[in-house]
Amino acid sequence: MDKPLAFKEREGLSPSFAVEGSLLTGVLCPTVYRCPNCRRIYKIVLGPGDVFLGEGERECPKCKKAFRDRSLEWPTLPTLDRFLFLFPGFVCGWILLALLICLSFSWLEWTLTITGVLMGAAIFFVTPLVAWFAYRSCQIVRSVHRFNLHGKTKAA
Ligand SMILES: [Zn+2]
Repeated sequence: MDKPLAFKEREGLSPSFAVEGSLLTGVLCPTVYRCPNCRRIYKIVLGPGDVFLGEGERECPKCKKAFRDRSLEWPTLPTLDRFLFLFPGFVCGWILLALLICLSFSWLEWTLTITGVLMGAAIFFVTPLVAWFAYRSCQIVRSVHRFNLHGKTKAA
């Protein structure tokens, strides 16, 4: 654990995303991770970030120095970080937007053809979410697999 820790920066307006709500700032302010040696960007996470899966260390492709990249494997992730990993700001915002549109439709008393609009809205809102969760599940499965392999080699 003597390797240097990666730099982490918030590119954006303000760090007080908790006050303003995570919807806007979550989308507009990506978190940038840099190599602590040469400052090469190795990862950009949308939103406040902090949570991504990995072995915890990596080698910089530019300067070839090893460093701690702030990643964790899924089995070692705290519950709150697991939640943030699956539901970051922009996913919460997306779900909120879908709910608001549903509400406004019911407020307008469905003057439009209900089934057509419903189908359209469902496809529009659900498809990206399904893709998102499929993508995240893939990452989690890979992380758990890596973790198990790692544990075995350490035990041996
Ligand atoms: Zn580097």
